[in-house]
Amino acid sequence: MPGFREHITGSTIVGIGYGAAAWYVGEVPPLTCLLGAGLCSVSGMLPDLDSGPGIPMRESVAFAAAVVPVMLLPRLENFGLPTEALILVCGVIYLTIRFGVTYLLKEFAVHRGMFHSIPAAAIAGLTAFLAFASQEPMHRYFVASAVVLGFLTHLIMDEIWSVKLGMFGPKIKKSFGTAVKFLGNEAWANIVTYLLVVILGALAASDASVTERLSVVRQQVEQASRQYPNTPPLQPIYRR
Ligand SMILES: [Zn+2]
Repeated sequence: MPGFREHITGSTIVGIGYGAAAWYVGEVPPLTCLLGAGLCSVSGMLPDLDSGPGIPMRESVAFAAAVVPVMLLPRLENFGLPTEALILVCGVIYLTIRFGVTYLLKEFAVHRGMFHSIPAAAIAGLTAFLAFASQEPMHRYFVASAVVLGFLTHLIMDEIWSVKLGMFGPKIKKSFGTAVKFLGNEAWANIVTYLLVVILGALAASDASVTERLSVVRQQVEQASRQYPNTPPLQPIYRR
């Protein structure tokens, strides 16, 4: 099984490629590319959150606790909250993720359970999509895909490492097929996972339609302002 370092290296390389490609092809601004590359890199350690207390769990939970409130800031500002409330809300989100999520992971996560699965990758992507409230719909898809890509990189690396080249051709370890999968062994874990996919998917879809509509309105306003530029103020004409 690849360790923490291999996973982070793999997803960082994929993230840099993803960000660079988006930057090269155009349309995506460099800052968004950088955010995508970073999130892809970090997402490479997400699936191993189920491996119990250790570096992946401690680091990714601490990272998420710090980054999620910042990603939610534009959204919270839309509510028109005063600065004091913003700080309090961010603090509560931080503590909930830092301690609440750690508790849940310690209690319920089974190694190579549903955390190592395709629907879990979808959950991670949908969460990123909901948390990252960009005005540009394309940027949201780009950032959410970065998380899914990092997650999948981890799963695929797990599978690649479970095939070892022996003297007589490739040898397959027992762990083969436990990373890239759609269903786990526990029924309740499968139900919870797919329920989350459906709920988050519905939330993301309704949210996406709102942002799409907003961006269409914004484009129309921009177009209108281009079509009807403000008439320059008339110069007073003085007659002699
Ligand atoms: Zn793994």
